[in-house]
Amino acid sequence: MSNNFHITPEGKKLVTVIPGDGIGPEVVRSAQRIIEATGAAIAWETRSAGESVFKEGIASGVRPDTIESVRKTRVVLKGPLGTPIGYGEKSANVTLRKLFETYGNIRPVRELPGVQTPFSGRGIDLVVVRENVEDLYAGIEYMQTPGVAECLKLISRKGCEKIVRLAFEFARSEGRKKVHCATKANIMKMTEGMLKRTFEEIAKEYPDIESQHIIVDNCCHQLVRRPEQFDVIVTTNMNGDIMSDLTSGLIGGLGFAPSANLGNEVAIFEAVHGSAPKYAGKDSINPTALIMSAVMMLRYMDEFQAALDIEHAVLVTMESGVRTRDVSGDEGAVSTTAFTDTIISNLGKRTANWSVRDYKPLNLPQVSTAQDFVQAATRRVAGVDVFIESALVPEELGQSLAHVAEGTPLHFKQLANRGTKVFPSMGAITDSTDHFSARFMLNDAEGDMSDSALFDLLTRIGKEHRWMHIEKLQVFDGALGYTKAQGED
Ligand code: NAP
Repeated sequence: MSNNFHITPEGKKLVTVIPGDGIGPEVVRSAQRIIEATGAAIAWETRSAGESVFKEGIASGVRPDTIESVRKTRVVLKGPLGTPIGYGEKSANVTLRKLFETYGNIRPVRELPGVQTPFSGRGIDLVVVRENVEDLYAGIEYMQTPGVAECLKLISRKGCEKIVRLAFEFARSEGRKKVHCATKANIMKMTEGMLKRTFEEIAKEYPDIESQHIIVDNCCHQLVRRPEQFDVIVTTNMNGDIMSDLTSGLIGGLGFAPSANLGNEVAIFEAVHGSAPKYAGKDSINPTALIMSAVMMLRYMDEFQAALDIEHAVLVTMESGVRTRDVSGDEGAVSTTAFTDTIISNLGKRTANWSVRDYKPLNLPQVSTAQDFVQAATRRVAGVDVFIESALVPEELGQSLAHVAEGTPLHFKQLANRGTKVFPSMGAITDSTDHFSARFMLNDAEGDMSDSALFDLLTRIGKEHRWMHIEKLQVFDGALGYTKAQGED
């Protein structure tokens, strides 16, 4: 936990507030009013990001004075941000998360009183801990040919170690007993497998917590069949994004799903939901997700009493049947403002039917900041995959490439199309595209390919074909750093 909070001259901890877009200002104001009513020593510095900032011509959607404020306060309470069509290429949310390396996204869901769902009575109380800055959401994409797109899924050992340690530390801080790690390691053995292997290694340091790996699709199946079996689920960025909307649905919807984006320096607290523009300014949406995000923020800032008071007041309000439109429908719904007023009037009351956790301060894991986090004792380059755009059939292209490599230190091994070997033919019926990956291996099976051999090969290929991408086939400490194509021996 960061103790470097910015203290105002009045002795209050300063928080950067970003009201956001659509329903953002309504839910953020609701949470602010409730916090103010607790008397917690919190002060606000309001800054902007999102639609209005894109429209000012700032391509990131985040203003420089917002960045400066976050650097100073290190704590953000934020409403959802939209990306207006035609402005900016990147989401301002993702920019904020990545700028401040908030690598862990904590998304708790808990069954709430008075919210009827098909799962009511099952005691759902779980947390998705989602890696927040790597994976496909880094948004590194390339058009490889006019008709074939690529998105890079980069997963680092360092990133895995940070998120896994955070999941275990978070479990300890909330007195939770079990951590599942959900991956697709059976298919993506290197990327998703990196999280699985790291999890299994680091779990040994937390013998007080039960640990179990689960394949992510089965995890989704189990979440719907028996959600009560889960406590903490740690997972990669995209898996976590999808799963946490699913878990929100289990307890009544996005109106109840809070989140915290945690990093070593900065923490950003926001609802899981977006800006729901159709409800903007209608004073009808449910502010609970943002209020519970603010509760997480107060705990992060060691304001345990205010957090406890608000959590009880929300529960007492729900138990009393005061609900917004998303829960009760139009009949009997109260406005966002009236809901907020009721929570404020319930501050100080305690629910008897609900147990509020005994929270302990969260120890943010300290992981080395070394860039070369993992080093190999031995390494060599065994060959190269050259990605080629071609309208030729695999036989013709394969024969041409075999000819191209003649007389070089490399030989042509095979052609793959979207990961399946298509030449030499296995007799498979594959619908090929114009995007091929041609594998060339060194003639010396234990050799180390020089860059000059690579450049020579590329020059030869370039004379006859259009290539757009290469991948060196690296071997680290004797382990292959590349996968084989389906059908490759
Ligand atoms: P959304 O804003 O989350 O809304 C989806 C639906 O969820 C709403 O139509 C509504 O369902 C329900 N909902 C969301 N918040 C609610 C609340 N507080 N109370 C009650 N119901 C609520 O998702 P979206 O429509 O896909 O995205 C809209 C914009 O938000 C996009 O520009 C997107 O990029 C952005 N976004 C931002 C963030 C963020 O800032 N962290 C996250 C997600 C999306 P019903 O229609 O059934 O009433």
